[in-house]
Amino acid sequence: MNIGVDVDEVLAELMEAYLQYHNQNYNTNAHKKDMFSYSYREVFGGTEEEHQQRVLNFFKTEHFQNIKPVPGALKTIQQLTKEHQLCIITARPHVVRKETEQWLSAYFADAFHCINLTNQWHGVGKQQLKSEIGKEQKISVMIDDSLKHALDCASQGMHVLLADFNYPWNQSREKLPENIKRVHSWKEIVAEINNYGKNNGR
Ligand SMILES: [Mg+2]
Repeated sequence: MNIGVDVDEVLAELMEAYLQYHNQNYNTNAHKKDMFSYSYREVFGGTEEEHQQRVLNFFKTEHFQNIKPVPGALKTIQQLTKEHQLCIITARPHVVRKETEQWLSAYFADAFHCINLTNQWHGVGKQQLKSEIGKEQKISVMIDDSLKHALDCASQGMHVLLADFNYPWNQSREKLPENIKRVHSWKEIVAEINNYGKNNGR
């Protein structure tokens, strides 16, 4: 199967690194459990422009360079590459393409068949929806922690595994569509992929 894989909070603990940076530089004391939204403006207040600038500054720091992988991701990705074609679909902006490729290659070697940045995240220039890339790359299963991207991909017929590793920002009171499945670990992700494959004759 062709499987789409998000980067931040699925493979990379960006939020952890970003909060360290933010707490050190902007006099805050925020933890992952406080992030009821992935919008820094909604959590910290201030303007969108201000937070975009903070994120651009963050990209130049060691906090960004030294992002740690999500527990379980390394082993599981290596395992999945034996049977599936994996493709990165991240909303990161084009300005960090090089850094993103370097980070992925440092931890995951050549596990990914393609790397796509949709530039939806504080990006200047052309943005794409994850579902557009998903269609281009014939993705059957998409793994993402963002409810917004999950709903987008699900609306275009992809089976979505919504990574919820205790993530306050992707909780929802509304019932999710049938083709979005909330998963709580990489172990569960593998089980769901196997299940989906079996049920769909893959
Ligand atoms: Mg993400």
